[in-house]
Amino acid sequence: MRSENAVEDGRKDSLPDRPAGEHAPTQSRARMLLRTLVGRVEAGSLTRDDALLQIPPLLLDELLHPMIDPAFQRCVIAKGLPASPGAAWGEITFSPNEAERLAGEGKKVILVRVETSPEDIHGMHAATGILTARGGRTSHAAVVARGMGKPCVTGAGEIRVDERAGTMSAGGMILKAGDIVTLDGTAGQVLEGAAPMTEPELPADFTIVLGWADEVRSLGVRANADTPDDAKAARRFGAEGIGLCRTEHMFFDATRIRAVREMIIAESEEHRRASLATLLAVQRHDFAKIFKVMLGCTVTVRLLDPPLHEFLPKTEEDTIEIATALGMSPEKMRRRADELDEFNPMLGFRGCRLAIAYPEIVEMQSRAIFEAAVQVSKATGVEVVPEIMVPLVATRNELDMVKDRIDVTADAVSREAGTQVKYRVGTMIELPRAALCAGDIARSAEFFSFGTNDLTQTVFGMSRDDAGTFLGAYILKGVLPADPFTTIDVEGVGELVRIGAERGHRTRPGMKMGLCGEHGGDPASVAFCQDVGLDYVSCSPYRVPIARLAAAQAAVRQKRLK
Ligand code: PEP
Ligand code: MG
Repeated sequence: MRSENAVEDGRKDSLPDRPAGEHAPTQSRARMLLRTLVGRVEAGSLTRDDALLQIPPLLLDELLHPMIDPAFQRCVIAKGLPASPGAAWGEITFSPNEAERLAGEGKKVILVRVETSPEDIHGMHAATGILTARGGRTSHAAVVARGMGKPCVTGAGEIRVDERAGTMSAGGMILKAGDIVTLDGTAGQVLEGAAPMTEPELPADFTIVLGWADEVRSLGVRANADTPDDAKAARRFGAEGIGLCRTEHMFFDATRIRAVREMIIAESEEHRRASLATLLAVQRHDFAKIFKVMLGCTVTVRLLDPPLHEFLPKTEEDTIEIATALGMSPEKMRRRADELDEFNPMLGFRGCRLAIAYPEIVEMQSRAIFEAAVQVSKATGVEVVPEIMVPLVATRNELDMVKDRIDVTADAVSREAGTQVKYRVGTMIELPRAALCAGDIARSAEFFSFGTNDLTQTVFGMSRDDAGTFLGAYILKGVLPADPFTTIDVEGVGELVRIGAERGHRTRPGMKMGLCGEHGGDPASVAFCQDVGLDYVSCSPYRVPIARLAAAQAAVRQKRLK
């Protein structure tokens, strides 16, 4: 039995029984369009500006990711949110360890989870695509998959996942580990079987067109990049800097997660400092690598902002392991984890709240940043001036308290290194109060970055992790024109960005301002940023070419309106 809309564009019996790659793919529309436009510009029958305006920015996804052959008749078994573009097929598995094992045998795997968390990262790396039953477009799975450039469908409420039994029900059928599905992360669809793919390609016309875009645009384009590999991808796609390095994403590897957990769980400063010493070395090492890759470009590092639930021990095995490491009894450990358990983790003990409660975390992170900056400046002769960004600030007091610790650490590192470290301290504007009080906050902040994921969540009062369950109905019934976590809600969230930017600039004229929520890679939202007069947008590396083109289109349109 299938649901009514299960077979959307095709019939089940039209599925190929051969895997992708053995089917002659249709030429990509993006490639053909770029060829035509570049040809016309070269022939003098079209201006560059007009050519740029004729390219739907999201069409570039076809050149950046594998896509399902457009000629293929689809059999859709479930729908979810299009959380990360591109397509992939593989055998489903419900376990990150199993995903890693199968990928090691050369198999293609789709990792299916109710939702992902940091300890799934090795399975996400191994998988060709990620499917989750829960979560929105800014959930862990979505943000991490976009960073990796892998297709991801989240919030697929129609599927029921039983991770223990190793089964998933979708479209009236029960699928088990080993069954093959295809994910279309651009459309938010799950298809039965292996669909034929078109492979990504970056033709010469792509480089030519983006070169035109760069000449026209005034809005900067940076990347959200958390690792040296992300930074390399960001540069390859033309990012002019890193607008957001989420430091909690640097701890996803197994030994690092353990140290972070120990730090969070520790009841005494002494225990916390012991875990922080481990983290200092790994952070310094990673920052140095990132600064080297991004030499000459600005890197904005955000202090730890972990929704605690993503890092608390989940299994009995984790509980015992951390309890042993901390010299605690498992019972005490469970009690501590219960104490830290939150009903609304996204509105809980995260962002600068963690930095204020545990200032030693700020000291460790800023020390790692400064020591890495000194090291890379000395080694390369190019001065590295990092930007340190404080998350989830609502009041200037919060920022001041954290900034004090950063300044004290900078002085200490300067003394030890025998050289004055240079840096800027700024803040995310991602809470309504911060936007309204931006004039006051700008007295302490040297730059702003609008965090429109959290700003959308807090302005609408919609959990970014749970909105997937009703947003589909909202859009279908015309309550909202689009998913506000994808395209900025100009009247509400956008108005707060406008207010924040105006008030900040009034206090600190010329203050640098960017936007680093997922909207930074959405063409309509990029146009809004141009309109508001922000300096740059920051988006996942694979979105950078799209943002460059969208920024150029926004500049051309603005020029024509004048
Ligand atoms: C945001 O809130 O927009 C943001 C970029 O931060 P995060 O998604 O990490 O909360
Ligand atoms: Mg945020």
